[in-house]
Amino acid sequence: MNDLNEIVSQAKTAFAASTTLAALDQAKARFLGKGGLITEQMKGLGAMSPEARKEAGVRINQAKTEVEELLRMRREAIQAEALEAQLRQEALDVTLPGRGGGVGGLHPVTRTLQRIERLFASIGFDIAEGPEIETDFYNFTALNIPEDHPARAMHDTFYLDNGQLLRTHTSPVQVRYMQGHPPPLRIIAPGRVYRCDSDVTHTPMFHQVEGLWVDETVSFADLKGVLADFMARFFEREQLPVRFRASFFPFTEPSAEMDIGCVICEGAGCRVCSQTGWLEVLGCGMVHPKVFAHVGIDAERWQGFAFGLGVERLAMLRYGVDDLRLFFENDIRFLRQFA
Ligand SMILES: [Zn+2]
Repeated sequence: MNDLNEIVSQAKTAFAASTTLAALDQAKARFLGKGGLITEQMKGLGAMSPEARKEAGVRINQAKTEVEELLRMRREAIQAEALEAQLRQEALDVTLPGRGGGVGGLHPVTRTLQRIERLFASIGFDIAEGPEIETDFYNFTALNIPEDHPARAMHDTFYLDNGQLLRTHTSPVQVRYMQGHPPPLRIIAPGRVYRCDSDVTHTPMFHQVEGLWVDETVSFADLKGVLADFMARFFEREQLPVRFRASFFPFTEPSAEMDIGCVICEGAGCRVCSQTGWLEVLGCGMVHPKVFAHVGIDAERWQGFAFGLGVERLAMLRYGVDDLRLFFENDIRFLRQFA
């Protein structure tokens, strides 16, 4: 009897000292296992007289039941503690402030492109697109830049192994569009262009917007009016001085470079305009009859003007950015200023 009480007491102590299920299993083996203390008591029954055996058997079974109950309670306590600890660790404080959803913004070049598209759409220009991988015909020949023409050397073209090329300007879209659409037509063609060139003012990829208006009576006066009006609206000026300087492009005749009064110094002279008070913003001219001939448009009946402007150039002037490469480095500190 004393032995059994002592065993139950030991079991209680041993179970209480077990802090993990593994340790508890080891403690269980010491009392209920094959060579455990309770089991040993059972083995002793065989040597007893039938009466003594009956009485002792009952007591041993009681002790065994007690130990099993102690074991069960301790097991539940350990499991509950483990669950508690896990819940504490995974606790979610719903009262904490959120991380805050970062608000993204459009890239300044995208914003500028959209602004240009909106302004031209408001005066009836459609938007046309063309492939960035072009053939020699669309990028050069159809634009009156035949092989051996010196203008080809100025384009620093990326050629592909199959003889195709990355378009060096958006002008091929003019040709493709005129092939599929009889005049009158009025489009702009925004997109990426590629040249093998990289420094402060050149990147291998940049954006252009090509413009084309073909109709029976379109004149150089329309060209000047449309572009002067566009620039004034783009830079949000009531009055914006413009000037056209004679220039040369193979696909237009006559051709001109368009300047606007410097929007940084208002014409007084600054570093951006090289102290001239003028900024060169685009090239333009009347569509060359040979370009019309390549797409089967009768140059006796139809005439038109075309222009091409650099999107990054306008974005730099509008936002006061002085290094073209900033647009392509994707430094979040730079981009965030436009969000
Ligand atoms: Zn200036």
